[in-house]
Amino acid sequence: MLIIMKIGATKQQILDVVQAIEGIGYQAKISKGAQRSVILVHGNIGYIDESYFKKFMGIRDIIHISKRLKLVYRENNGGADTIVDLGDNIVFGDRSAQIIAGPCSVESREMIMETADFLSSRGIKLLRGGAFKPRTSPYSFQGLGDKGLSYIHDAAKKYNMKIVTEAIDEYSLSQVMDVADVIQIGARNMQNYSLLKKCGAIKNPILLKRGFTASIDDLYASLEYILSEGNPNIIVCERGIRVFEGTKQRSIIDFLGVSDLREESHLPVIIDTSHATRERAKVPGLSRAALAFGCDGLMVEVHPDPDKALSDGPQSLSFNDFDLMLIELKKISGLFSKPLKFYKEQK
Ligand code: PEP
Ligand code: MN
Repeated sequence: MLIIMKIGATKQQILDVVQAIEGIGYQAKISKGAQRSVILVHGNIGYIDESYFKKFMGIRDIIHISKRLKLVYRENNGGADTIVDLGDNIVFGDRSAQIIAGPCSVESREMIMETADFLSSRGIKLLRGGAFKPRTSPYSFQGLGDKGLSYIHDAAKKYNMKIVTEAIDEYSLSQVMDVADVIQIGARNMQNYSLLKKCGAIKNPILLKRGFTASIDDLYASLEYILSEGNPNIIVCERGIRVFEGTKQRSIIDFLGVSDLREESHLPVIIDTSHATRERAKVPGLSRAALAFGCDGLMVEVHPDPDKALSDGPQSLSFNDFDLMLIELKKISGLFSKPLKFYKEQK
């Protein structure tokens, strides 16, 4: 840590800071410039809380050299990528991109079966669908709960797919962890630290969505909560952040945030192209852009009859829309460093 003193800071003020540093067991090295003094703190391992120095007069600025968080940064992972391996050749974070697709909510046994049948026929291996839904309005459909979970379980089993489904609290986590191959923690729960700690204490891979008002640093802190409890299997998901009132879009995808995440952290990063758009016509274009950008996968909402969907219908693709999008994605996929993984040729 570097403590920069104000121009004109007195000898006594500098001495007070030096004594405070030594008082907590570190060493201080004063560098006197033409105008001001700078004090280098050393002997510490890791981050020092700067609030300890708030009471001292004469300090202009404090610059941290060590980072507050430990596990989330690439430099602390030996520079390597974390690979989240779900088995059966389904991997996040290698040189390919995955597609997670399915309805916003599991609405009935028939609809999730129909969707799984369709998606698996297109080679999609990751089936999404919420049984526990974190809705903005308490009057909106809240999901089928345990029943929904059993339906998606049966559908995934029948069509040999992996399950991505959301936990919203301690109870749903306890239910979902027995069924899900990947547990989604949604944007609204990104800073539910007690839930994140519980996710860190289990083995299931976690898909953590960035909150729509969260900075990248907020997201790092949330990831650290999971990592520090011992679960390294995390997929990060950018799903759009809020833009200002009065603009047409409700959210924008923070592409530069995605590249910072990919550079600074070691975790795979996917882009949810449905929740950012809220408009199904825009999903294919955004998906193409996301793939071209080089993320580790896409999440897309697909519904057998989107206009009748109980949640997020306007942004959900019909089977036909999904087919058209897949044709486009397939055309461009080979051009990029992370081509989409198709397990079966499209019919
Ligand atoms: C969802 O995936 O259906 C969902 C609720 O997403 P988000 O948390 O990104 O709003
Ligand atoms: Mn949704």
